[in-house]
Amino acid sequence: MEFTVCGGQVPPPAAHIQKSKPLRMYLLYLDGSGSVRNPNERHFVLAGVAVFERQFYHLISRTDQFIASLGLGAVHDVELHASVMASGRKGPWKGMVRQDRLAAIEDSLDLLKSAHWSVKAFAVAVDKQAASPNDPVEHAFEEVCNRFNLFLTRLWNRDEEKHRGLVVMDKSHYEETLQGLARRFREEGTRWGNLRNLAEVPMFVDSNASRLIQIADLLAWAVWRRYEHSDTRYFDRVVSRFDAEGGVIHGLVHFKPPTEECMCPACLSRARRDRT
Ligand SMILES: [Zn+2]
Repeated sequence: MEFTVCGGQVPPPAAHIQKSKPLRMYLLYLDGSGSVRNPNERHFVLAGVAVFERQFYHLISRTDQFIASLGLGAVHDVELHASVMASGRKGPWKGMVRQDRLAAIEDSLDLLKSAHWSVKAFAVAVDKQAASPNDPVEHAFEEVCNRFNLFLTRLWNRDEEKHRGLVVMDKSHYEETLQGLARRFREEGTRWGNLRNLAEVPMFVDSNASRLIQIADLLAWAVWRRYEHSDTRYFDRVVSRFDAEGGVIHGLVHFKPPTEECMCPACLSRARRDRT
């Protein structure tokens, strides 16, 4: 397994906190949807599911139980991959009628919808034209790391409990692209400053082996459908899971041309916040 650098060093907590409250870990499983190179697609989405260390097992075992209930063969041979499930182009999804495949995507998203309250969703939808000439993947990665870091900071301010964050991504898709960016983060910080709550290195894993990367893939696809095709069928199932506080959605970001009016939950929430 290879590692690369995402954010700044985590400063040691004050001595009195270290004694009374141990560091707790949140992992943010990230995956993307939408083609960066295809000019016929307008959006790229990077989405993540943040899971507290004690909740991994619960969410993974519920996902495995759901897959077993579909009767598609050995549970560990079945991967939840939204675009493959939607198209039915390969694997066990090939023989299933379209209506059942789409229902399976909805049921998979319901695993996130009904997850423990501590599980939070994050997503950044980037209009590729608006991001140009910057790389939309880099832009989304920087923003989502920042949102995750701010979430951990809010936990610290609210509970005075230090949570450390670790970003986990699919090895095959992003390792090469983001290694250089992560190195730059370490040397220069992000545009928003140092990501002090994040562990120094993101981890790249094989999505075949990670149920939580697969949940992130489903979330990214649901968000991508919302922005690319105005299809809210899947997005609406999970919109309540985005990190939010006091009526402001912090966990969903829509990066669009500044002059464009938008009524999506992220833009409406931001407009409401800016008015107050
Ligand atoms: Zn919007």
